Amino acid sequence: MKEKIEIIQGDITKQKVDAIVNAANTSLLGGGGVDGAIHRAAGPELLEETRKIGGCPTGEARVSKGYRLPARWVIHTVGPVWRGGRSRERELLASCYKNSLKAAVEIGAKTIAFPSISTGAYGFPLEEATEIALRETGKFLASDSNLEKVVFVCFGDQVTGVYRKLFSRFFPTGP
Ligand code: ADP
Repeated sequence: MKEKIEIIQGDITKQKVDAIVNAANTSLLGGGGVDGAIHRAAGPELLEETRKIGGCPTGEARVSKGYRLPARWVIHTVGPVWRGGRSRERELLASCYKNSLKAAVEIGAKTIAFPSISTGAYGFPLEEATEIALRETGKFLASDSNLEKVVFVCFGDQVTGVYRKLFSRFFPTGP
């Protein structure tokens, strides 16, 4: 199962996977960070489609086409804004991963790439967010055999370091 998980450092808009996940906001009308990068790379048709979708509640996911991206689909999920940890932030972030993985299976995607949801502008502590990402993905892959590869695309050295450290803790190698 851990063989299906890959951690890379790079730009999610360049990933040649079936679906990339966007850390969107509830309006689905684009924004900064990874959301802005995805909209710029996909082209204006993406905004036309997400405008029609009409928004997405925190913790849920919506699917659009990928337009000019190498990925065929974009799964838009809305992470929680960190408000100190007592506003169901952990549960909502776990839902983002679960619902995005479920959406990928529903559209027949075999390969999917995630950014580090909520850890930029939304302020979710990186280590805790990474634990949630790895735990939910591990659980999902253990119970569903449709997905072949889940890529965590880390933007910058800090995110990459945390993902690699926690990955080896979650999925230890050797006897
Ligand atoms: P949020 O609002 O959910 O916190 P952000 O886009 O602000 O979303 O940040 C989420 C993560 O995405 C951060 O780790 C940020 O560095 C990262 N990121 C920004 N641009 C890209 C990109 N092109 N590819 C992958 N990750 C990116």
